[in-house]
Amino acid sequence: MLRASLLALIGVALPLTAFGQTADDLKNDAKTPGDVLTYGMGYSGQRYSELSSINRDNVKRLVPAWAYSMADNRGLEAQPLVKDGVIYITDHEKTVAIDALSGKEIWKNVIEYPPETTRIVCCGIVNRGAAMYDGKLYRTTLDANVIALDLKTGKEVWRTKSSDPSEGYSMTVAPLVADGVVIAGVSGAEFGVRGYLEGFDAQTGKSLWRTYTIPAQGEPGYDSWPANSTRAGGSTWVTGTYDPELNLVYWGVGNPAPWNPILRKGDNLNTNSVLALRPKTGEVVWKYQMSPNDPFDYDGVNEWIIADLKDASGNPRKVVMQGNRNGFLYVIDRTNGKLIAANKFVDVNWADKVDLTTGRPVWSAQTKDIIEHGGKARIFPSVTGGKNWAPMAFDPTRGLVYVNAIEMGMDYETLPADKIANLKPGDPFFGVKFPLVFDPEKRGSLKAINPLTGEVKWQVPFKTPNFAGTLVTAGGLVITGQMTGEVMAFDADTGKLMWEFQTPSSINGSPITWEKDGKQYITVNSGIGGVYAMHVEDPRLTHVPAGGTVWTFKLFEEFPQRSASSN
Ligand code: CA
Ligand code: CA
Repeated sequence: MLRASLLALIGVALPLTAFGQTADDLKNDAKTPGDVLTYGMGYSGQRYSELSSINRDNVKRLVPAWAYSMADNRGLEAQPLVKDGVIYITDHEKTVAIDALSGKEIWKNVIEYPPETTRIVCCGIVNRGAAMYDGKLYRTTLDANVIALDLKTGKEVWRTKSSDPSEGYSMTVAPLVADGVVIAGVSGAEFGVRGYLEGFDAQTGKSLWRTYTIPAQGEPGYDSWPANSTRAGGSTWVTGTYDPELNLVYWGVGNPAPWNPILRKGDNLNTNSVLALRPKTGEVVWKYQMSPNDPFDYDGVNEWIIADLKDASGNPRKVVMQGNRNGFLYVIDRTNGKLIAANKFVDVNWADKVDLTTGRPVWSAQTKDIIEHGGKARIFPSVTGGKNWAPMAFDPTRGLVYVNAIEMGMDYETLPADKIANLKPGDPFFGVKFPLVFDPEKRGSLKAINPLTGEVKWQVPFKTPNFAGTLVTAGGLVITGQMTGEVMAFDADTGKLMWEFQTPSSINGSPITWEKDGKQYITVNSGIGGVYAMHVEDPRLTHVPAGGTVWTFKLFEEFPQRSASSN
């Protein structure tokens, strides 16, 4: 305070960081549970909150504090951020600041898109959230721009065009601010883009670096594609995590394109991989590929949760963990990219196992057949994955991950090569058929899993799989939601359903919890997801209205406090 006054007196402008969020604020986000400044509720992406005043004893009394309509019928997939009593939330065309206690709108910024945008973009008319740093909110746009908004006013501070949607690119990802650099990835593997990550100057929006996920001629991995193949895919559409001590960003890479593998033999690096990069330069320090030559759209983009675990011999290990679409739960040494564990968390028949020595999957006979000369087979999991992108949570006190697992397979069949021979960026890059197969009584489960052993501590089956993220709290609760609209709280030790609330449309985003004036709240988005509706054929869903509403819950107070004292 004294220093600030002195500086003001001598006419020195305070650095902007004094009014915004500093690098240290972001680094300490998980340890300051009142506010949520980062995607993943902390750089580690654990989605674990130390708040416990909403807990197993009182969660039954959770009631809505307010609901705010985003007036969005395309789906709310974003994770909200909370800072100083203001909630910031995005959809594909809007960013809004809402008073966290009253639900009243403070400002709204609407993105004007060229009219063709929503018609031509790949993979969902959605947005997954924002990043906050230095008094600004950073987000991506469907037409592949990255923009910075003033946190106080919502006014645009800068805008940088990253790519061209007519070439198949779009952006839905929440950016990550690491070491002062705004990092964003692209969608569009299904439209034949060449994926990349890009770093932007937080103050000016200037592009600082771009790292392509698919190597150019002369770069390592170029030979993992046939000489004349299209070399497409490798999108980067889910936010990575950051370890400030190792100064490494961990970011997943999507599928090769087209899905049909017969014209792209080889590992197709660096698709379906995780990259560990330096945030200042985009330099790749190590990488690991989960699904070489992926024919099944397993991507590799899901969450990379940072944690410190003890391995089977009791040795402390610095790890990153991912529940991959391919049905394996990966635990990797985050200092060097070496595989520690890869356990199946749903029915998997595309691979028998992952070889811990080589780090490579051992393909089943039917996968080998499809990769060598195309064909058809019943494959588990389906293109929807053993889990989809919605992030799992990790409870460091229990050592468990909480996963919304999807238990469906597909009757996969490659189409003849001439169907995929002349694709160009912007075309749909599939070349396969994949009708889903499932047990209508059980298409998914919420599971509590030991990531090192794969042991399932408990599981709760669902008729319709969940596409929501999970949140776990020191109150012993796992919070998530259903496609049929229910927000739910489960006992983190037993899986017992402790509370639920029916919202009018599906839960597709990630719930968060926060605290203001000593009271804990839970905020969740309800809004049907355009992209996933096609995968789910539950007749109940056809009657669920499209939504787009942010809900905030607090404990019901039976005896409202009256201000009887003199002040
Ligand atoms: Ca925090
Ligand atoms: Ca994909």
